Formats: sequence, C-alpha cells, structure tokens
Amino acid sequence: MKQFVVIGLGRFGSSVAKTLYKLGYDVLGIDISEEIVQSLADSITHAVQADATDENTLKALGVRNFDVGIVSIGDDIQASILVTLILKEIGIKYVIAKAQNDLHGRVLYKIGADRVVFPERDMGVRVAHNLVASNILDY
Ligand code: ATP
Repeated sequence: MKQFVVIGLGRFGSSVAKTLYKLGYDVLGIDISEEIVQSLADSITHAVQADATDENTLKALGVRNFDVGIVSIGDDIQASILVTLILKEIGIKYVIAKAQNDLHGRVLYKIGADRVVFPERDMGVRVAHNLVASNILDY
C-alpha cells in the first residue's frame, strides 16, 4: 500500500490529503500553521506542524520512507522549490508539485518534480472538455 506525504495543507493540499485518506491510504500532512494542522488532525493519518523547508526536520519525520510526495505550497514559490528539491534529494520516487504559473512549473520540472499540476488551469480544461462531452451544448 502506497504512503503519501502532503506538504502544504491549503485548499488543494488538504483536499488531496483527505481524499487519499478516505480511500484508505496512509497520509502524513505537514503544514507550517498550527491552526491548519489542528483542523485536519482527525481527517488524515498524521498531521504535523513544521517548516518543510528545513531538511533536517523532514528527515527526522521519516519523510524519506514515503512513496509519493505532494508539494502543495503555492504562494511561497521559494518554499515550493526548496521542498520539491529536498524531497527528490532524500529519495522520494514520485513527487507531484503544484505550480502557480508556467515559469514556476518549468523550474519544478528542472529540479526533478515528476509531475507538475496547475489546479485552476487543469480544472478549466477539464470543465471545458466535460461540457463538450456531455452534450450540454446541444440544447
Ligand atoms: P491553496 O490554493 O491550495 O489554498 P495556496 O496556493 O494559497 O493554496 P499557500 O497558501 O501558499 O498556497 O500554501 C498552502 C499551505 O502551505 C498553507 O496552509 C501554508 O501554511 C503552507 N505552507 C507555506 N509555507 C510552508 C512551509 N515552509 N512549510 C510547510 N507548510 C507551508
């Protein structure tokens, strides 16, 4: 059974984390905000308050043992880049990172992200495809 670590538990990260947990997976969530961590304490396997840009903290939390890392820090591009780099360097096989814009996404790929998502852009594409596929436009 795959184990997931989700870093940054904002709207996107918490949604990914809670959904994986509901599907039966082990999910460690990390956020710098104590308030956010407390609000998710009962919705995922473990929620921990920590600054994920601190490599030693991530190592101490045993993050290297996770199969998949999801970096969902958006606003702080520097933190998003540092965390993605650390996760790849400590050996997480598959890292997905959320990008705020195209340039951010390109940097994330360069430092080793296996997949980059652009939540608003990707959802816009999906909604458009669904609208066309569901014949809703025929009426
Ligand atoms: P969303 O759209 O998913 O709500 P966002 O793009 O607005 O998120 P942010 O608010 O920047 O993204 O970050 C998401 C979460 O990441 C926040 O809950 C924030 O506390 C957390 N976060 C930011 N920096 C760090 C860090 N260095 N370590 C851990 N968590 C962090």
